[in-house]
Amino acid sequence: MKDKNIYDVIVIGGGPAGLNAALILGRSRRKVLVFDSRQYRNEMAMSLNGYLTRDGIAPAEFLEKGREELKKYDVKIIEEEVIDAGKNQSGTFMVSTENGKNFYSKKMILASGIKDNLPDLQGADLCYGKSLFHCPYCDGWESRDKIIAIYGIKKKGYEQAKAMKNWSNKVLLFTDGREELLDKQFKILKKLNIPVYTEKIERLLQKSGKITGIKLETGQTIKCEVMFFNTGFSQRSNLGEKLGCRYTKKGSLKNDDEQHSNISGLFVAGDAARDMKLVVVAAAEGVKAAVAINQELEKEELKELLQKEKIYV
Ligand SMILES: Cc1cc2nc3c(=O)[nH]c(=O)nc-3n(C[C@H](O)[C@H](O)[C@H](O)COP(=O)(O)OP(=O)(O)OC[C@H]3O[C@@H](n4cnc5c(N)ncnc54)[C@H](O)[C@@H]3O)c2cc1C
Repeated sequence: MKDKNIYDVIVIGGGPAGLNAALILGRSRRKVLVFDSRQYRNEMAMSLNGYLTRDGIAPAEFLEKGREELKKYDVKIIEEEVIDAGKNQSGTFMVSTENGKNFYSKKMILASGIKDNLPDLQGADLCYGKSLFHCPYCDGWESRDKIIAIYGIKKKGYEQAKAMKNWSNKVLLFTDGREELLDKQFKILKKLNIPVYTEKIERLLQKSGKITGIKLETGQTIKCEVMFFNTGFSQRSNLGEKLGCRYTKKGSLKNDDEQHSNISGLFVAGDAARDMKLVVVAAAEGVKAAVAINQELEKEELKELLQKEKIYV
C-alpha cells in the first residue's frame, strides 16, 4: 500500500471531542479523516450550557459551526458508521465502514461517546433532554427553584439529592421500590427537608415532554417539574473492545494524561474516555490527543528520515 492512501489520523466520532481533535490536527497540516454516525449524546437536549461564548446554543448548531470551521483544513468527514477497527503488525490502523469500505491511518482517535441508561420508566424517552436530565452542571440552572425529583438508588441517588439542594429547595428522592438507603442517610435527608419515596414508580406524568408528576404504584401522585437521574451509561460503540482497549470499572476507556489508550498509537477522547463528561472537557481532550499525536508523528518522521539518510545520532 502506498503512503498516500494512508491518513495521518482517523478520528472515530464527530462530536466535540472528535471535531476539536480534527481542528488541531488540520491546523498542524495533518491529513485527517473523521467518521461520524451522527448520534451524539446530547442530541435530545434543548441547549448546550456551560461552554464559554456558546452558553445556551442548540447542540446541532454547535456541531455545524464546528464542521464549518474544519472546511479550510485537510480534514475529510464521512458520515458513516465504522463497524470494525484493528491494527496490523506494521502498526497501521484499519477501519471498515457500514458500506464495506476500508480506510487506513498511522494513528487513531476513538471519540465515539457514550449513551445514557435512562431510568426504566414509562414516558422517560419523551422527557429526556426536556425535563429529564442527568447532569446538574448542564441543566441545573434551568431547573433552579423547580420541584426536582431525583431518580436513583443506593448512594448515587442519596448523593445527587443532597447536591441538588443548591439549585432548589424543593428536592424529592425516589428509589423506585428499591429501598437501599441506610438509616443515617434517611436522617440526613430528613434534616435537609428532602422527602424520600421508596415505593415503586408506575410512570412519569408529562405533557409534551415536560414532567408534571410521578405516579406511584400505590396510586399516589406526587407533583414535580423535572427529574435528574443517575443510572449510568454505556459506550456508544464497541470498537474499543475490538481494538483491545482497557476500561475503568464504570465503563470508560482508560487513558493517561495525554489521552493515550493502552494500545500504542490509539488515543481516546471525550465522553468515551475516563474524565468528566462535559462538552468543554471533551473538546479539550480532543486537543490533548491531537497535540500528542502530532508530536509522535514528528518524532517518527524524523527517525525515518535519519534512517533513510543513514544519519545516526
Ligand atoms: C440530555 C443531555 C444534555 C447535555 N447537556 C450538556 C450541556 O448543557 N453542557 C455540556 O457541557 N454537556 C452536556 N451534555 C454532555 C455532552 O453531550 C457530552 O459531554 C458531549 O457530547 C461529549 O462529546 P463527545 O464528542 O465525546 O461525544 P458525542 O457528542 O456523543 O459524539 C460522539 C460521536 O461519535 C459518533 N460515533 C460513535 N460511534 C461511531 C462509529 N462506530 N462510527 C462513526 N461514528 C461514531 C456518534 O454518532 C457521535 O456523533 C449533555 C448530555 C445529555 C445526554
